[in-house]
Amino acid sequence: MGEAADHTTLVRVMGWGRIPQRSRIQLCSCVALLFNGPIQVKQRTQMNTTLKITTLAACFILSASVTAVAGQAPLTWKTGVASTVITPETSMWMAGYASRTNASNGVKQELFAKALALEDEQTNRLVIVTLDLIGIPRTMRKNLEKRVQEGFKLPPEFLLLNASHTHSGPEFRVGRTPADDGEFKPAKAGELYGAKLEEKVFALIGEALNSRAPARLLYSHARCGIAMNRRLPTERGYQNSPNPEGPVDHDVPVLVALSENRKPRAILFGYSCHNTTLALYQFCGDYAGYAQEYLQADNPGATALFINGCSGDQNPYPRGTFELAQRHGRALATAVEAAIGVQRPREIKGPLRAALAEIVLDYAPIPSREEFGKRLSSTDRYEKRHAERMLAKLEAGEKLPVNYPYPVQVVHFGQDIVLVALGGEVVVDYSLRLKKELAGPVVWIAGYSNDVMAYIPSRRVREEGGYEAEGAMRFSVTHPGPWAPTLEEKIVSQVHELNRRLKGD
Ligand SMILES: [Zn+2]
Repeated sequence: MGEAADHTTLVRVMGWGRIPQRSRIQLCSCVALLFNGPIQVKQRTQMNTTLKITTLAACFILSASVTAVAGQAPLTWKTGVASTVITPETSMWMAGYASRTNASNGVKQELFAKALALEDEQTNRLVIVTLDLIGIPRTMRKNLEKRVQEGFKLPPEFLLLNASHTHSGPEFRVGRTPADDGEFKPAKAGELYGAKLEEKVFALIGEALNSRAPARLLYSHARCGIAMNRRLPTERGYQNSPNPEGPVDHDVPVLVALSENRKPRAILFGYSCHNTTLALYQFCGDYAGYAQEYLQADNPGATALFINGCSGDQNPYPRGTFELAQRHGRALATAVEAAIGVQRPREIKGPLRAALAEIVLDYAPIPSREEFGKRLSSTDRYEKRHAERMLAKLEAGEKLPVNYPYPVQVVHFGQDIVLVALGGEVVVDYSLRLKKELAGPVVWIAGYSNDVMAYIPSRRVREEGGYEAEGAMRFSVTHPGPWAPTLEEKIVSQVHELNRRLKGD
């Protein structure tokens, strides 16, 4: 780094440029965590000494008046962000665990829906909505697609919805898309909540679009170790238990929208881990909720948004208490800070391109009526109830489905980022495989996107068996049984096809 010609202080902050300073750094009791990586200050004083200050537990915050940034890249993007509380106003049945015996009894942490609107120089616009909820019903996705196209002229391929998959949120899928829980839970409150949610998300998208302002986009990534594979091979098959030998993806991708004043306006980050530290009875965003909360508290004015990755077979460990959820949240927030603080961020350029497709995912051959009949005497109560539901449909004259429309979305940020958003609870094999196979400097794979209908095992997991392969389908009222083992090739092929289309190959 060169030195200034006078007594100006030069501050180099994580590779984001050189900032002429005149005593602009303020020591402060709060922690500007985004700027909390190693900060080197070189100060040419009358004694021509060089000071190097490294902030570890430090309290540096850059003054809002730091705007004259030498050599700053142009603000080629426009970004807007909006956030709204979606915590239920009353007690509700909670989503995610079939074994729960009663409804919620309080709020530990507010749940949020957030929207990030990005517009490139050609005025292509992408909106990413993140939800502190178990999933996204297909019906809600479809309704919103239609409404944002009509209301905001936003094509469906430029709308990405992602759920954090917290298991401490309300069950609202009942009645719209039925719950994937073991028993049918009272549906009315869920229906009302789902209807309100759709309105809130629609308004939120409009709010984010309307708040667009000039920005730069920067990408970096780091690692976080709280996720562990949860498929343990045993003599009784694969059990849901910690498996430190199993595959993981500890990558933490981070996209930051910087405002004109060089402060982060939005921090979008991802991670591949079930949001299941907690199995209690109070609403809470779990580790992902805490990570967002901490990042926002430490970066006033910024909205933090979490995108869940390929977490189908990944759990945070250890689990069970609010304190652990907070610790995991802090660990993830620290990784986000590390991504920005340690790496030299990549300046992201446009144009935005996006493609969305629905593919037909086949089920394995569906059990016959007789087979479902035999399961009525199963000692496994979930298998028995699934059989009852399927038989009830057959009795009513319905045909059981033989396939399901599965959403695959690919977004390109120029030549810089390939973002793949897959539906369902995608296991980590998809992330690892697609990162290898897709060309591009940055590959970001999201699961839990646009429709969270079931687990999405890889061929390997499907053939190994166990909960993510087939067992979880017992809780469904939609799916008659497990997927055909061809699903991985179908999904991956579609990703490649969309990627080629966007590249213009
Ligand atoms: Zn899950």
